[in-house]
Amino acid sequence: MLTFFTDPYEDELLYGTISRYHYYIGNIDFKDTLREVFGKNSIIPSILLSSNLEYLSKQLGGRYYSDYFIKKHTIFPYYAPFLPIQRRNELVKKMKYGPGEGIYTQLGIVAGGLCKKEGIYYCPLCAKVEIQKYGEPYIHREHQLQGVLLCPHHGTTLKRYLIDKTNSSRIEFIRLDEEFLDLNISFRKKNKIYDNLYKISKAAYFLLKNDLFQFNKDVLAEKYKYILANKGFLTTSKRIRQKELYKAFVDFYGKEILEILESTIDVDNEYNWLKVISRNSKRTVHPIRHLLFIQFLVNDINEFFNVDEELYVPFGKGPWPCLNPVSDHYRKEIITDLEVTPDYKTRLPVGTFKCHCGFVYSRKGPDKNLENRYKIGRIKKFGHVWENKLRIYLQEGKYGLREVARLMKCDPKTIKKYDEKLGINYFNDTGSILNNSEKTSNMNKEIDIETYKKRIVETIKTNPHLSRTEIRSLCKKEYMYLYRHDKDWLYENLPKKKANYYTKNKKQFRVNWELRDLEILNKIKEQYNTLISCEDPVRITKSILGKNAGVLSMLEKKIDKLPKTKIFLNENLESVKEFQLRRCKKIIDKKFSQNEPVKLWEIQRIAGIRSRDFNNIKDKVIDYIERGIRH
Ligand SMILES: [Zn+2]
Ligand SMILES: [Zn+2]
Repeated sequence: MLTFFTDPYEDELLYGTISRYHYYIGNIDFKDTLREVFGKNSIIPSILLSSNLEYLSKQLGGRYYSDYFIKKHTIFPYYAPFLPIQRRNELVKKMKYGPGEGIYTQLGIVAGGLCKKEGIYYCPLCAKVEIQKYGEPYIHREHQLQGVLLCPHHGTTLKRYLIDKTNSSRIEFIRLDEEFLDLNISFRKKNKIYDNLYKISKAAYFLLKNDLFQFNKDVLAEKYKYILANKGFLTTSKRIRQKELYKAFVDFYGKEILEILESTIDVDNEYNWLKVISRNSKRTVHPIRHLLFIQFLVNDINEFFNVDEELYVPFGKGPWPCLNPVSDHYRKEIITDLEVTPDYKTRLPVGTFKCHCGFVYSRKGPDKNLENRYKIGRIKKFGHVWENKLRIYLQEGKYGLREVARLMKCDPKTIKKYDEKLGINYFNDTGSILNNSEKTSNMNKEIDIETYKKRIVETIKTNPHLSRTEIRSLCKKEYMYLYRHDKDWLYENLPKKKANYYTKNKKQFRVNWELRDLEILNKIKEQYNTLISCEDPVRITKSILGKNAGVLSMLEKKIDKLPKTKIFLNENLESVKEFQLRRCKKIIDKKFSQNEPVKLWEIQRIAGIRSRDFNNIKDKVIDYIERGIRH
């Protein structure tokens, strides 16, 4: 295990983190560093995407999970939402367990790469700030993205670092050294092209910052088609009016920006990228072109990925809790790997949650409340952490079958299965008297469960109109037993729930408004807290909260479905008058805290309020001052 590590800065490329590690730990040979962090010295460190991350994570004692590195410190999220789900999973696996070869080709960086960048890029303004703040600059992942020519934070033109792989050893670790940086800031000419490039770089950054792993190529294709239809680009037979689309698209951007981003369109080519992207053909399309297309369609990438009813995520926002009862992180929200598939029969969404401890569970959705997040539908895999714990109990040899089952929080049948699977055969050894008695009791249990099931089935048969709850009250004992031991069977066989979350209209999943209300409320509160603590007061309005939280159109169109959010807004939005008053109060507070005299005219001047308006709030201001004096 590594006792020292350079913790990554925000959006730092993991490669850069390791370069700093190499520098600070004082290794002379790069191979020593490679061995320490990746377990072998034969790999060539990749700048943009890393591999063998699972090893690194272990070396760090689990302080960082490999998923965390992938999502927060590589450029992978730039590509992830546009890949077919299977390819994405393969790539994640490669990054976790290596080898790293082939990752670039599979992403299409080598073959279909656009606006290729050789070398390492940085923003002089970012670097300046970081030198002041941390004493060193670092390599940002957002500055390395193909097609990102400006810093998404500052709009400055990115600069190429003096040293890169073309003029140093392939396995050398390059870090940004203040000495070799050119900190002169430059901007492109401010015009439409600049605006577009800036917007694109911000959109690219959005992809890095938001966990969009619930999207993939097919989901997006559906979404594109839906919007194209709404915009009138589909014929009645659902074909795309390619000529109109082409014209509108080129009109929207102008040819020059498309040239800069190497994305011009040959209208006669059957496989020009606009046709490929709008038809969802097998080919994948570069993220920069997706970004161009998305901003053409909706103008705001935030809205495209977030405010979308059809694609609304049925299990709420991640990370999700691990429900492995014997892990040390039980119920902690650490799972980032969720796959949503429709149920074979009902088409309801089924979520499969995979944790790093090997525990995998699934649950039918959509979640109806936050409690649902802690429910297991089916355990798909117990994983190494669970198995190791069981192994210890079995080898200790001092517990009976049921005791072990209780300790492991599962049923005895599972224990026996794993006892055999792990090759310990403690309970499967017929010679032991203890085991024999356990065995009979286990057999009794099996008889019980079948009788119980039968009883429930019969009760339902004879009372076909009873609801779930009524069946439950008729067969309390059986219900509770099955609830604990075979919930899946129970739910499959009980009458269907009355509340119907799925309708047969064209929407995939209906929105779970209760959950959504909470999510939006949280986002809004977060923005509110930021705004209210701003040094320069900003008036709290619906539009600023909504815009900053990326939910404005929700607030405008669906507020009646969001009761909690609505109440919060009613209580906290400011009229002009209220805002003026708050500004005055803030100034008064400051005067008091600095023991300065408080003069009415001065308050008015600093707050910049016209006399007519000031007269309207004067009484309240005076009142506030007097209360302050009394304290
Ligand atoms: Zn910058
Ligand atoms: Zn876990």
